[in-house]
Amino acid sequence: MIDKSIICKNLHIINNNIEKACINSNRNVDEIKIIGVTKTIDIESIKILKSLGINTFGENKAQELLEKYDKIEGGDWHFIGNLQTNKVKYIIDKVSLIHSVNSLKLLTEINNRALKLNKNMPILLEINIANEPTKCGLLEEDLFNVIEKLENFKNITLNGLMCVAPFVEKPKDNAKYFRKMRKLFVDIKGKNKDNINMEYLSMGMTNDYHIAIEEGANMVRIGTGIFGERNY
Ligand SMILES: *Cc1c(COP(=O)(O)O)cnc(C)c1O
Repeated sequence: MIDKSIICKNLHIINNNIEKACINSNRNVDEIKIIGVTKTIDIESIKILKSLGINTFGENKAQELLEKYDKIEGGDWHFIGNLQTNKVKYIIDKVSLIHSVNSLKLLTEINNRALKLNKNMPILLEINIANEPTKCGLLEEDLFNVIEKLENFKNITLNGLMCVAPFVEKPKDNAKYFRKMRKLFVDIKGKNKDNINMEYLSMGMTNDYHIAIEEGANMVRIGTGIFGERNY
């Protein structure tokens, strides 16, 4: 369990950084939502985070999410990791947003499962914005192909875009990628389609969330910055 005073102090720092980034970019802090990334973090520490006002938690493994889900009353869970199609059925009734949708195959499975439950599943499309061979996500050139097919997936709503930017020494170096993301976001937002409702631009992690916000992010996914280094 992580000490409450540590989490509290870390959140204070994050909120200050968010405020500065908002001032720099003429934005309102109310626009920015923090997703507490709780992978590998124990239940008690997650409860502390909840008590400090963060109630949206990001997990990247289906199994881990299932183990934690029942233990945090009233928690709002987001799935942020690479999702195998055979795991969709376990999480679809437990998460309010899937950030990491990156193929037509996955869209098809999510849509089928949502249809069975008679629900609509909000998703983000994950973009491999720096074209990194080691990363998941749609390449820019495939994105619009997926967008064209989206109307076939009646039980899905596209709520925005997500990316994991490269790990860089100087976070400012990622500004160009975040800017590209924002441009794609705006392009898609301009399309008038039934199941597109562009609300969220999920980008920025501990290392670079301040830069992401300056470039237009309104969801930041922060783990290390809140809980300290993970010991995998
Ligand atoms: C782990 C993870 C994060 C959080 O990373 P930190 O550097 O610990 O803030 C954000 N997004 C995704 C998809 C992750 O897997």
